[in-house]
Amino acid sequence: MRGDAGLSDRVHALALEYVAPAADEVDRDARFPKESIEALRSERLLSALVPANLGGGGARLSDIAAVVAELGRHCASTAMVFAMHQIQVACLVRHGDTAFLTDYVREEVVGGEALLASATTEVGIGGDVRSSSCAVEAGGGRFRLHKQAPVISYGQFADAILATARRCETSPPSDQVLVLCRRPHLSLEPISDWDTFGFRGTCSLGFELDADDVDDCILSDPYADISERTMLPVSHILWAHVWLGIADAAVSTARAHVRREARKKPGATPPAAVHLAELMAVYLPFRAVAEQVARHFDESEHGTDTLGSLAFAIECNSLKVAASTLVVDIVGRAMRICGMTGYREDSEFALGRLLRDAHGATLMVNNDRILANSAQMLLVAKEA
Ligand SMILES: Cc1cc2nc3c(=O)[nH]c(=O)nc-3n(C[C@H](O)[C@H](O)[C@H](O)COP(=O)(O)OP(=O)(O)OC[C@H]3O[C@@H](n4cnc5c(N)ncnc54)[C@H](O)[C@@H]3O)c2cc1C
Repeated sequence: MRGDAGLSDRVHALALEYVAPAADEVDRDARFPKESIEALRSERLLSALVPANLGGGGARLSDIAAVVAELGRHCASTAMVFAMHQIQVACLVRHGDTAFLTDYVREEVVGGEALLASATTEVGIGGDVRSSSCAVEAGGGRFRLHKQAPVISYGQFADAILATARRCETSPPSDQVLVLCRRPHLSLEPISDWDTFGFRGTCSLGFELDADDVDDCILSDPYADISERTMLPVSHILWAHVWLGIADAAVSTARAHVRREARKKPGATPPAAVHLAELMAVYLPFRAVAEQVARHFDESEHGTDTLGSLAFAIECNSLKVAASTLVVDIVGRAMRICGMTGYREDSEFALGRLLRDAHGATLMVNNDRILANSAQMLLVAKEA
């Protein structure tokens, strides 16, 4: 799988057969893109990021990012589900080095192509993922966890959920652990619906989460380390590629529209062609930076301590903030190029779904929080 030249062709074919045809219905009905996830599962792409020595595909993060972007061109909800799953896989394989967790990865993530979800946010805490109110109760080799989660994407469809919590009842809010909550030792009681502007197919309902399982499910690395070295960089890189996929789709739509206008008057350049040129000047640097940060992650995995450095954290934060604002700008520019044909829902150039999905980007860990975090790091970082 690593550097697999055929991977992009396989994903492109899968996207055309399963993802694209379902995308409008997934959005309209706010339903889980089950056929797309099943297709990814049968191609063994849910375990693509697991190292080959554990039976997985051994893909690099940049390979996975390219898959995410391809899915995002056709259905942003499918791309986001796939991205969020891979973020959890990255946390497990990079921080779950016990025999128990390694067996879980080998048997369930690889053997069963299990789908993993995330519960980092909590009722009463807002989007501050580095703080928990709920706490793990552990004793006699077991743990119990009760968490009120305002948003767990595709929670009902997941085989396991990685949840943050305080290490124990006496721990401060920032002393967190990451806990693997597996079915059937997990129950989810819905507490809110998911009827949103965009990313409707992620089915991100709120839940009362209850887990009761063996304490081997608690990852031994502090969540602070997991967050800094894996969850934040991988999230920002893969989310940016979801938004890159949306931007790609908008650019392709605008190009097709301008070409159609050009065919109507051979020999004359349509006025919108200049705006298309401007659009490319925004889109191409966005794509280059997103791909470069993914490669930077791959190159940093071995040898250097880049992944824990302030400079790399600032780079990933900056990618998230830039990508999440550029995607809205790019789809808006495409809309101006396509005019009414982009605004109409019943047109081959319709851009409404892309624009609605694009607006979710700044909220997924609010950009204000990320900028505040970068601002603190910039005060102490030697270089960035
Ligand atoms: C499509 C989608 C899927 C999601 N899936 C999941 C999931 O699977 N699991 C999960 O746990 N979460 C998930 N989330 C939640 C997400 O990651 C965010 O944490 C959540 O959207 C933030 O909620 P909020 O905007 O209400 O809160 P906040 O982040 O608290 O923001 C509320 C307001 O407070 C302001 N604010 C707060 N703190 C600061 C600060 N320090 N500096 C400046 N301004 C501040 C913000 O600007 C904003 O105006 C998902 C969100 C979306 C949109």
